[in-house]
Amino acid sequence: MTEQAPIIIVGTGLSGYSLVREIRKQDKEIPVLMVTADDGVSYSKPMLSTGFTKGKDADGLAQGSTEDMAKQLNVQVRTFATVTGIDVDAHELILGDERLAYSKLVLAWGADVIRIGLEGDGQEHVFSINDLMDYRAFRKALGEGKRVAIMGAGLIGCEFANDLRNGGYEVDVIAPSESVMPGLLPEPAANAVQQELETLGVGFHLGTVVDRVDRQGDGVSLTLANGEMLDADLVLSAVGLRPRIDLARAAGIETARGIVVNRALETSAPDVYALGDCAEVDGHVLLYVLPLMACSRALAKTLLGERVEVSYGTMPVMIKTPCCPTAVCPPPSGAQGGWEMEQDGSNVKAVFKSSGGEVQGFALTGRFAMEKQALSKEVPPIHG
Ligand SMILES: Cc1cc2nc3c(=O)[nH]c(=O)nc-3n(C[C@H](O)[C@H](O)[C@H](O)COP(=O)(O)OP(=O)(O)OC[C@H]3O[C@@H](n4cnc5c(N)ncnc54)[C@H](O)[C@@H]3O)c2cc1C
Repeated sequence: MTEQAPIIIVGTGLSGYSLVREIRKQDKEIPVLMVTADDGVSYSKPMLSTGFTKGKDADGLAQGSTEDMAKQLNVQVRTFATVTGIDVDAHELILGDERLAYSKLVLAWGADVIRIGLEGDGQEHVFSINDLMDYRAFRKALGEGKRVAIMGAGLIGCEFANDLRNGGYEVDVIAPSESVMPGLLPEPAANAVQQELETLGVGFHLGTVVDRVDRQGDGVSLTLANGEMLDADLVLSAVGLRPRIDLARAAGIETARGIVVNRALETSAPDVYALGDCAEVDGHVLLYVLPLMACSRALAKTLLGERVEVSYGTMPVMIKTPCCPTAVCPPPSGAQGGWEMEQDGSNVKAVFKSSGGEVQGFALTGRFAMEKQALSKEVPPIHG
């Protein structure tokens, strides 16, 4: 390591760019090098599931070119540069044959989409969307197509179902769960979202999975485990994400579900930090924007010499299903208590209360979604 070695940030997603913005609020000059496997274009990932609703294609969703970002933030950005290892003892990042010295290293390299093995010869019609480049490829492949089958009924599957319907596509959702967004929404709220999506024209095939995807004409034929057959032009796989931990683990850095960090975002290796979708912060893997913003603010200070631990506020998530506006703040796992329900058609107010009557979480659909702010004030922030 030399005196001049920069801070290196791996990743130019929301985590990487938020962190560098926070650094520049306090220090305009400290050398920062960003390294990314993709094209480095700045975009807001949550907007990917709103393209048709907002009338935007991949270019329309881009917020800043790599050159603009580098200039605006006074950083160097190396694009299409895939990190292959970390030498924590030498303080060097490894990119194939090349080694880059760092003074401090921040891993903000996100999460991988989970790919499930499918039988059949139609695999090239199966897409997943986890960044702007994926979205561009999906929109291009969609071309004149009209029918999309979505695997997965989680937040991302439901958002894309709503958005693709808004774009005029025929949409089928296939998922093994018996309700949408299991684990995130209590049943009455999940049923409300499903009902409104069905009213919009989305077909649901729950309690089953896709077994085969076979080529048929220009599209595919799907065989479901329950024996049903479906035709589609494209398949969108939205079955989940897994924090990227392999390279960190290979470097001897502690990992669990994510790269293990404490509240100062420090990994087990000196001068190596992790942030965003790849990180497990004090036991929490939170693949959302608000936590990574809070972490970026704390980490910028730490990198500049004032060690700060992140404190999370209450972090509700708005689910972008405009046919049934939904806000959720799940209770902490293992919380003792129960749901109190108020329901009027697809308007559901579900509040999770402890045995002592304290609000621990909520799920709100339809007109109740407007009560998000007020209820958020009652939920205690996430502690360790
Ligand atoms: C469709 C969709 C909708 C969403 N909606 C919401 C929402 O409404 N609200 C919300 O809070 N959250 C939402 N999320 C989640 C949120 O978008 C993510 O939590 C957040 O964008 C993660 O940002 P990140 O920077 O940590 O990771 P990423 O954006 O995945 O960035 C990772 C970066 O690391 C780079 N990289 C990876 N591996 C390497 C390597 N080996 N070498 C070099 N570079 C590498 C990548 O190229 C990329 O630049 C949504 C996610 C999706 C997919």
